[in-house]
Amino acid sequence: MHIELTSEEYAFRQDVLDFLERHLTNAVRRASRLSTGVFVDPPWASEWHRALYEKGWITYAWPKEYGGCGWSSVQRYIYESEAARSRAPAVSPMGVNLVGPVICEFGSDWQKEFYLPRIRSGEDYWCQGFSEPGAGSDLSSLKTRAVRDGDDYVVSGDKIWTTHAHFANMMFALVRTSQEEKQQNGISFLLIDMSSRGVTVKPIITIAGDHEVNQVFLDDVRVPVRNLVGDEGKGWAYAKYLLEFERGGGAPSTRCRVALEGYKTILRNEPGDIPGRQLIHEKDIQLRLGQLEAQVIALETLDMRQVSRRQAGARPGTTASIVKTLGSELLQAIEKASLDAMGSRGLPALKLQGPDFLVAPEAPVPEHGWAVAGRHLNGLAATIFGGASEIQREIIAKELT
Ligand SMILES: Cc1cc2nc3c(=O)[nH]c(=O)nc-3n(C[C@H](O)[C@H](O)[C@H](O)COP(=O)(O)OP(=O)(O)OC[C@H]3O[C@@H](n4cnc5c(N)ncnc54)[C@H](O)[C@@H]3O)c2cc1C
Repeated sequence: MHIELTSEEYAFRQDVLDFLERHLTNAVRRASRLSTGVFVDPPWASEWHRALYEKGWITYAWPKEYGGCGWSSVQRYIYESEAARSRAPAVSPMGVNLVGPVICEFGSDWQKEFYLPRIRSGEDYWCQGFSEPGAGSDLSSLKTRAVRDGDDYVVSGDKIWTTHAHFANMMFALVRTSQEEKQQNGISFLLIDMSSRGVTVKPIITIAGDHEVNQVFLDDVRVPVRNLVGDEGKGWAYAKYLLEFERGGGAPSTRCRVALEGYKTILRNEPGDIPGRQLIHEKDIQLRLGQLEAQVIALETLDMRQVSRRQAGARPGTTASIVKTLGSELLQAIEKASLDAMGSRGLPALKLQGPDFLVAPEAPVPEHGWAVAGRHLNGLAATIFGGASEIQREIIAKELT
């Protein structure tokens, strides 16, 4: 594993830092710092999407012919880690990181021409319609049906936990187009216009009080056949391709590093048990901080190994499952430590919801404590979405045995 930067990579890093300095507004940084969800809501996230689009960096990981930047995996890592460190919001990944690469790889010429520019510009906002009430970890048991009728499919079923469906105008969905003995067969990948007749989005309010996820009902929704990606019945293969990017995308260690810095800010500012001294001076706190710091360093090393593998042309593979599992569990541990440090002072901010989160809580809580309780509660989902930890461990075990 080689992790020393070349002079060109140092220069690239400086370009990234200059861009972040000039284009990442204080309002967007603050929204990102105070957001409790996985993705920052529009309008802040959209403002950042626009800035990246205008710079030509929004789809940096795509093949160059479709608008990618041709960056090496080291450049990607530099960009991703510096952007996260500067508190740039994670761009909503459903278009840019998930369905975009699938359309580039498997989409028709028409789909590439029509959808890829709209994903790049942010004109289309996508959501992911995979999970159903009876199909999560066992995704291939999904029941949403698509029946061919002339030039359309008629789609009926029920999707759940659909992140940001209330903002989205497009959904990519897995649907069953035929019943086969092996349930992975007969699944197809469809692009559904959310304004079609028969689409109903019902909010699900999370334990933290946020509106981030939804249930989406599809009642006889007509979807043109030209919105079928690839071949009918081959959707499972495209979904597996997409899930590798979902688990292997980004630099999870950076999210943990940023969360750890937030934890340190709390420890440096919150009063401890010893009068006149802050929490950071207490021995048990220092021990907990040291353990978390060591785990973040270990994850950073693993992330660099991923970068090195990608540089050599390998796909994310099983390492994506290892990094996803360790990263999500470590993030939860840091968020829990932050809430423990704030104690009951971290609770009033819980009443805040959605775009109103920039309003101060009624109680006099310093800003470093506002998002702590919401982050901890929402963060409990990190070991569930994108594939639960138990499932990831099964994937890893299968690879190793
Ligand atoms: C906040 C959030 C956002 C999400 N966003 C989206 C989205 O945008 N689009 C989308 O399609 N889905 C989304 N999901 C759904 C997510 O992918 C599923 O919740 C996840 O796949 C788990 O499925 P499930 O909820 O049905 O739980 P289940 O599959 O019922 O699992 C319940 C528990 O049993 C364990 N378990 C299940 N099977 C096994 C097994 N074989 N071996 C060992 N343990 C097992 C699981 O690990 C878990 O702990 C989101 C979920 C959350 C919480």
